[in-house]
Amino acid sequence: MVNKITVLLGDITTLDVDIIVNAANNSLLGGGGVDGAIHYMAGPELKEECRKLGGCKDGEAKITNAYNLKCKKIIHTVGPIYKDGKHDEEQVLRNCYINSMALAEQYRLENNLDEITIAFPCISTGAFRFPKARACKIAIDTVSNSSYDKINVIFVCYEELDYTIYREMLNINN
Ligand code: ADP
Repeated sequence: MVNKITVLLGDITTLDVDIIVNAANNSLLGGGGVDGAIHYMAGPELKEECRKLGGCKDGEAKITNAYNLKCKKIIHTVGPIYKDGKHDEEQVLRNCYINSMALAEQYRLENNLDEITIAFPCISTGAFRFPKARACKIAIDTVSNSSYDKINVIFVCYEELDYTIYREMLNINN
């Protein structure tokens, strides 16, 4: 069980947390949506570092520095492009959260940190068109079932609709 789960409405690039997660594409060289915003705000050095990583497969995750962002590290993960739900989309999305959390725990241990906070965007629910409620349930279930009890998770919603869905799913009423 993770330590604490919260939901935030806003822009993930502004957060002063240990790690933000990027919903990247296979090239890791930037794109639209949250990926474009992160690369823009982090500055061109991020692309230079990403270029050396040799891309990233669906569901996998890679960690980089954060350059001009306030956070310490960025974990880049590649969500599934949603087709019809019969192409392993759910498992691939689950893997994004599992592999990102594993990298976060590794970062925590390597840096002897007592506790860390990681912020996730709503992976795959933009250009990749994963149904929002289903993606939200996968995000919450996967993170809740992870065994890392020194990691705090923030789900960052950029859209009001996502914010409503996450708060409903987590039973947050205030
Ligand atoms: P994907 O290709 O994985 O679908 P997108 O970036 O198109 O990625 O969309 C993923 C989610 O990121 C969407 O819910 C979108 O609203 C959200 N998003 C876009 N910009 C930001 C941002 N600056 N901060 C947080 N979330 C964002």
